[in-house]
Amino acid sequence: MSLDRSTTWPYEDGEPGRFYYARYDHPNAAEAERELGALDGGEAVLFPSGAGATTALVLALLGPGATIALAQDAYYGTGVLFRELGRWGLRLVEFDQTGAPPEGVDLVWLEAPSNPLLTMPDLAAAAAHPAPVVVDATAATPVHLRPLESGADLVLHSATKYLAGHHDVLLGAVVAKREDDARRLRELRGRTGIVAAPDAAWLLLRGLKTLEVRVARQDESARELAARLERHAAVECVRYPGFGGLLSFDVAGGAEAARRVETSTTLIENATSLGGVRSLLETRHRWEGDRVPANLVRLSVGLEAVDELWDDLRAALEAAAIA
Ligand code: PLP
Repeated sequence: MSLDRSTTWPYEDGEPGRFYYARYDHPNAAEAERELGALDGGEAVLFPSGAGATTALVLALLGPGATIALAQDAYYGTGVLFRELGRWGLRLVEFDQTGAPPEGVDLVWLEAPSNPLLTMPDLAAAAAHPAPVVVDATAATPVHLRPLESGADLVLHSATKYLAGHHDVLLGAVVAKREDDARRLRELRGRTGIVAAPDAAWLLLRGLKTLEVRVARQDESARELAARLERHAAVECVRYPGFGGLLSFDVAGGAEAARRVETSTTLIENATSLGGVRSLLETRHRWEGDRVPANLVRLSVGLEAVDELWDDLRAALEAAAIA
């Protein structure tokens, strides 16, 4: 569909029509939500970033004094955000998502697979918990996982990553199983103005057209690279859940060797983020501290030829081992 940057649309017979003011809704977001909702099997609500979507979800569906049980492996920025919202009365407990969530919490927050430790949640154990369950499925994408079909109530996406897929747009979404949750999210969005721009929604629509083929290719290459890294003498361990384009590996020789790997690749860019057409890698300790090993390198596999990616990684591992 074409890009419509309008912020206002004429009333119809003196009354607001489907679109009337862009803070409440606009055509590109509505179409992107329709497509993403169909992929996940729920009602999608778009936000200007993954973090914005997380903020909106908490503000819309919880109140002061509520407690979130957060998977301790979840994207470190999610915990940072929840601790920031602690000033507004949000409480946080962390737990191991491979087991059951703790009792007495108001929301369970999982991540599938977690970034960058790549653990998978026990979704059945979480679904048996009385609290609503959110699954951040950014790294899985609806191509691999549809959490609403396995007992989750809400799905969170940083659409910045695989869904948009080209490292050129910041965007997020919540997909709700229940219409009343989606309605509440839209209501809060319109009131707070945490609204995605039409250009960003249009870029998501473009990205979704190739999601399946991109993810299939990234998945195939990542499986192959994970297997080859497993066999490499300079790699202590590989974390890969068996699907998807994201993996991490620990470099023998500690933090300095890992740093040499990340600064030695030439095809794979040393940059943060994941899920785009270009491969990126970085050590995560700089951001996350001791939550992750100091020699852990996260690799987001793009669309380059797998043998070229392997040659680049192997040369970087050798450079790190020689230095
Ligand atoms: N969830 C996961 C798993 C992420 O990796 C990220 C960002 O890296 C986010 C949420 C936040 O998304 P955004 O950067 O679009 O705000």
